[in-house]
Amino acid sequence: MGRNLQNELPFSMPRPSKNELLKRLRPNHPDEQLRFGYLGANEDLYQLIEKDRETIKRLNLSYEELASAIERLFQTDDEHVCGNRIFREYYIHSPVCPWGDFCTTGPFGLSLKVTQIFVVNKDCPEGVKTRFVQNSTIPLDYYTMLVKYDWAMIFSDLHPHLIREHHFLEGHETPYRIDPERAVRYLGLS
Ligand SMILES: [Zn+2]
Repeated sequence: MGRNLQNELPFSMPRPSKNELLKRLRPNHPDEQLRFGYLGANEDLYQLIEKDRETIKRLNLSYEELASAIERLFQTDDEHVCGNRIFREYYIHSPVCPWGDFCTTGPFGLSLKVTQIFVVNKDCPEGVKTRFVQNSTIPLDYYTMLVKYDWAMIFSDLHPHLIREHHFLEGHETPYRIDPERAVRYLGLS
């Protein structure tokens, strides 16, 4: 997931044009070097946001509620949420928001913090749970499978900002997508 210096100087970043934003959101952007990106290669950002808005409304949920629930995950030391096990991963910082307006870490923040959380489905096979207990780092190749088989949800500390400020839950091709229906189920929202 190598990151460049630009990520560490978020406050000097200019706001991207619409085209630049779309490039930053796609997988394998040369500067961002995030394998999954935020949006599938052929997904339409604005249609995605509209569709998710309808789902959020249908579920009688709000962006604020969803963002706060994820924030709480990062603030608590609890080992479970809604019966599902919480596993934390530590790093120095998360990526800068693709809109160029926010970073979860200040420019001089160099200490390790929880940047990513796996909430592992209480109903997933025992072998999967064991893998989390044994491995301190879950390989990237495993992420897509975790979502495909509904074994876990992956939360980033950037998610609350993306949801609150941009109403963006990420695309269907990235395991970082915050699918509202799954979030309700995993985090016990109603
Ligand atoms: Zn932003």
